[in-house]
Formats: sequence, structure tokens, C-alpha cells
Amino acid sequence: MPKVNPETQPLWKCPRCGHRFVTPNMWHSCTQVDLDAHFTGKEPTIRKLFDAWLGFVRKYGGPVTVIPQKSRISFQARVRFSGAIIHKQWVDCTFWLKRPIQDDRFDKVEKIPPINYVYHFKLTDTAQLDERLGSYVREAYQVGQQKFDQ
Ligand SMILES: [Zn+2]
Repeated sequence: MPKVNPETQPLWKCPRCGHRFVTPNMWHSCTQVDLDAHFTGKEPTIRKLFDAWLGFVRKYGGPVTVIPQKSRISFQARVRFSGAIIHKQWVDCTFWLKRPIQDDRFDKVEKIPPINYVYHFKLTDTAQLDERLGSYVREAYQVGQQKFDQ
């Protein structure tokens, strides 16, 4: 049997919410949440930080679909590889890599065996969006495009 290339398999589109997934009928929250709802009651600076993070991910990664969910906002290439959780005083920015990295800027790392790492940092100032972070985002985007084995 020819080896299936995961990067080129068409995505399945959920008929209810319209979101796209690599696996048909994959479990998901299946809700449509308004992006603006995440910013209700927040300072405009928080929206600016989010927009800066999204722009940064698009700049260093590439085109993404923004998927507002109930408690988070996900960024999807082929798969969801990055995103944000909106807080009152900061934006919790996340991305997924296939390797451990040592960098003090991350306040939380979720390890998902065997080799998945979801990094979190608190964005309070756009000056945090530097070149090194850009290199991580570039790598995370490759994960989002399924360039690595799952
Ligand atoms: Zn759905």
C-alpha cells in the first residue's frame, strides 16, 4: 500500500460548525463563538496584544484560520498548533512544538507524550514578540502543517 502523506490529505469539514479537521468525525466542541466575545469587559490594550500575537504568528508562520472557542482562541494551519487565552491583564499565548526547549520566557509547558510540548507565555508587551520567539513560531507552524510525524 502506498504510504499516505498526511500533509496532503484533504481535511474533513464538520457540517454543523464548519470547522476543519484532519480526522473525519473527530470529537470537538462544535460551537461557534464570536471572537469579540473574548474581549468583552477587557481593556482595548488586551485586544491589541492579541492582534499583535496573531499578526506575529501569521508573519513567522503563515496563513492561519482563527477559531474562537469557549475558553480559548485557536490558530489552525492544517491542525491547531497555536492560540491564545484572553485574561484581564495579559494574553496567554500558546504554541505546539515537537521538542523541548529551554527558555525562561515560558511560564508553563504542557508535556504530551511522547514528544509534544505546548508552551505558554504571558504577553503583556509587544516587545516580547522578538526574533527568537519568531523562530519558535516558524517551527510550530511546521507542526501545524503536519510536517512532523504525529
Ligand atoms: Zn462541528
